[in-house]
Amino acid sequence: MNTESNSALRSEIAEWMATHLTGRFEALRFRGNSGDGDALPELRKEWERELARGRWTCPGWPEDMGGRGLSVAEQVVFQEEYGRAGGPGRMGHIGEGLIGPTLIAFGTEEQKQRFLPKIRSGEEFWCQGYSEPSAGSDLANIRTRARKDPVTGEWIVSGQKVWTSLAHLSDWIFVLARCDEGSVGRNGLIFLLLPLDQHGVEIQPIRQIGGSAEFNSVFFEGARARAEHVVGAPGEGWKIAMALLGFERGISTLGQQMSFAQELELIIEIARENGAGRSPIIRQRIARAWVGLRAMRYLAMRVLADDPSGDMRREVLGYKYHWSNWHRDLGKLAMDVLGLEANIVSNDPRRERLQQLFLFSRADTIYGGTNEIQLNLIAEQGLGMPREPRGTLG
Ligand SMILES: Cc1cc2nc3c(=O)[nH]c(=O)nc-3n(C[C@H](O)[C@H](O)[C@H](O)COP(=O)(O)OP(=O)(O)OC[C@H]3O[C@@H](n4cnc5c(N)ncnc54)[C@H](O)[C@@H]3O)c2cc1C
Repeated sequence: MNTESNSALRSEIAEWMATHLTGRFEALRFRGNSGDGDALPELRKEWERELARGRWTCPGWPEDMGGRGLSVAEQVVFQEEYGRAGGPGRMGHIGEGLIGPTLIAFGTEEQKQRFLPKIRSGEEFWCQGYSEPSAGSDLANIRTRARKDPVTGEWIVSGQKVWTSLAHLSDWIFVLARCDEGSVGRNGLIFLLLPLDQHGVEIQPIRQIGGSAEFNSVFFEGARARAEHVVGAPGEGWKIAMALLGFERGISTLGQQMSFAQELELIIEIARENGAGRSPIIRQRIARAWVGLRAMRYLAMRVLADDPSGDMRREVLGYKYHWSNWHRDLGKLAMDVLGLEANIVSNDPRRERLQQLFLFSRADTIYGGTNEIQLNLIAEQGLGMPREPRGTLG
């Protein structure tokens, strides 16, 4: 599949971005991406509604769910053109890319009708309540409890989630909790949809090394989810949670190379200006970064290719490992190109962008599956090697 071939779609998106990312939205250009995720949140929510008016939210959803039914390759084209135009980090990403597709696949008709239109229109924003202090890589270890109110049928939730991206700017959270008293591991879990604005929910932002506070601790003490807001059956939450992770690890990262390319171009521009590019070592590292980016692009195209052998999965497994390590190295290169200036806090937007790149890219090899976990997945699922020893509970 060659994403270059979708030229009509490319031009349509480029033209739409050129005419709409203007005026008051101009301030959003290149803002709100990783490390800057809490920037200008209200304006970015308005931008979501502007995108919705142009039918550019949820373009991959089926048409009868309010989307455009774009193929995966076409969605990547959208993401590339969006990034090329400097489109801001998407406030609606978790709704559009994670819970939306999960509800389309597993939700009841009532859930689809209640939630999908407001995700699509940019009226409601979502966050992901999976990780807990002792359940990250080992997600099956979650302790947050949900017990059923025998009178109302509601689910009463108590416990703590952590690293919950954008919870302080969201309206709803999907929560994986333990509903069967005494159950362990993947059994006895439930997947719930909870409004955040209620008694029994406390959100505490966590400030990150880069200065922003994009994620949070979320405490539940008797918070309530309505009986009809369980996705799948109680006790089968693990199945729904894993399906959602499949969407998370899917296409959403395939189109991000455009913004990676822009970061590399900025590094080259500064290396030319400040003389860092005269160093043969820096030049080699820039060349290697460029080669790595091309390799990433071809890997993404291979993942997208229609492969009749059905053997695509191996490439998908390697993709996250490749891009996250490449991006982390790019952050280090950016600092070396800036030299001493890298250590100075300033309002120079170019310098700030590279500093954010360095600081936030440390997280790339953690979220969505740490490096070590990715290597386990590649070894076990991709290469068919023996499973690493596990406890008896998982
Ligand atoms: C920027 C960012 C945003 C996030 N957003 C969200 C969010 O919105 N919602 C949410 O639920 N979570 C979120 N997370 C949490 C993320 O999913 C977890 O950080 C991740 O799963 C790792 O879990 P942990 O932090 O508990 O580390 P741990 O699982 O405790 O891992 C610690 C170290 O041990 C290693 N390790 C663990 N198990 C193994 C093993 N079996 N073999 C070898 N090494 C191992 C890991 O690789 C890692 O190096 C976010 C994290 C980050 C950094």
